[in-house]
Formats: sequence, C-alpha cells, structure tokens
Amino acid sequence: MKDLRYLTYEARVRWDCEGFERQTEEDFELRSLDLSETTGGMYRLDAWLDPVGGAALKAAIESLSNPLGTADHRTAKQHRADALVEMAQHAMDEGKLPRRNGARPHISVNTTIESLKGELGEAASQLGNGMPISSKTVQRLACECTLHRVIKADSVVMDVGRATRSVSPSQWRALKARHRTCAAPECDRPINMTSPHHIEFWARGGRSDLPNLLPLCYHHHRLVHEGGWQVIRAGDGVKFIPPERVIPRRVRGPGMRWAA
Ligand SMILES: [Zn+2]
Ligand SMILES: [Zn+2]
Repeated sequence: MKDLRYLTYEARVRWDCEGFERQTEEDFELRSLDLSETTGGMYRLDAWLDPVGGAALKAAIESLSNPLGTADHRTAKQHRADALVEMAQHAMDEGKLPRRNGARPHISVNTTIESLKGELGEAASQLGNGMPISSKTVQRLACECTLHRVIKADSVVMDVGRATRSVSPSQWRALKARHRTCAAPECDRPINMTSPHHIEFWARGGRSDLPNLLPLCYHHHRLVHEGGWQVIRAGDGVKFIPPERVIPRRVRGPGMRWAA
C-alpha cells in the first residue's frame, strides 16, 4: 500500500516535474554529517541525508542489524551503532579505501609490549588522539592484525606486521575453507565479515597458526576480548563460555566517565 505522506510528492512529479527536481536538489544541499568527539572520548553522530542516500545507508545498516544468535540481547539502537562500525571496519579491512598521506585508513594506537600484555602499573595504551584504551581492547586490535607496530619499553619500535604474526593469505584461505560464517554459536555473519581470533591470545604468546585461529565477527570478537566470554578447546572443536555473572549496569549518559 502506498504511503499517504508521499501522495503530494507524486502529484508534483506528474504535474510539476521541474519544480520537483528543483526541490530535490535544494533538499540535497541540506545534507550534512557531524561527527564530534565528547570529553569522555565517545563520538556523537548527527546527520541529514537525502532520500536516496538515506535509503542506501538504512538498507546497509539493516542488513547487519539482525541478532547474532539467541544470546544476542543488544537493543535495536546498539545493533545499528555496531552495524555502522562494522561497515567502517570491513571497508578498512578490505584495503580498498583510498590512501591518505600515503597510508590506508587505519586506527592508530600507541602501546608497549608490556601494556599489551596487561602488566600491572604499565602506562595505558592510547588511540592516536591520546584517548587511553584498555589492554583488553588493544589485545583485540592486536589479535585481528590491526596493529602493526608496537613500542618496546626501551622505546625501540618493533614491527609486528606481516613478517612476524599477521595471518598469512594462505592461512586465511585455509580458515575460510573450514568456516562459512563466524565461529561463534548460531552466528550467521559471513566469513568475509570476520577477522581472525587467536584462541590463545597473541599478546600472551598464542601462535598465528591454523589450530589457534578462529574467524569471529566484530560483535563476538569484542565479547571474547572485552565482554568476559571465553573460547576453549573441547575435543576437536571449541566451546564458548559466557561470563559467570552479569555485572550490573549503572546508568550514566554516553560519553561521561565515572569519577575516579
Ligand atoms: Zn581475538
Ligand atoms: Zn559472530
């Protein structure tokens, strides 16, 4: 059934085609997107899109907003936020985005071997803008091969890129041959939207060889590193174990940090 809201537009397309086209271009000029960083390091997105651009974004977000298994209790808004981040990460992983200043778009992280291992008392790892991130997060980024360079305690830069630990194209092909989707239970995220997880964490010495690798989607990779889930070997397969207790959520506004 036709949406009644659009009847007047339809009449204009029929009888005032030029006027409708002019209006369409005027509306298009109103497009805008603000991406601002809050004092707590969160980002706020505020945007206006034209009908076609908005429909494209909505279709893409909806394709990634389905619950990933019965244990997925994210809200609809959280699904949409994750979908947008997943699209951005996928586009960067594909390596097809244009270079800027000679480099592919990437997340910049300053860390040391010691803070990567989560050693107590070590300086926090930081995003390129100086925002501290937890060692669990930096371990996830290292696991999925996002990090290529790490500073050692004596300030020597160590390349941890393709030569030493990144999953090689042949390993990735072999992993893809074993899995069609993310390896988490009930998750139907296609293999091309996953990244490699080291069952024994790379930061703790886990090797980048096939028996130690599992493809995980953005949501499940985050659950395993930051959400308290564990992946353990069980016979020929692996088992996903949820956290024992649910940490009660305290209500606060996004972007606001707890006082120390
Ligand atoms: Zn991982
Ligand atoms: Zn998944």
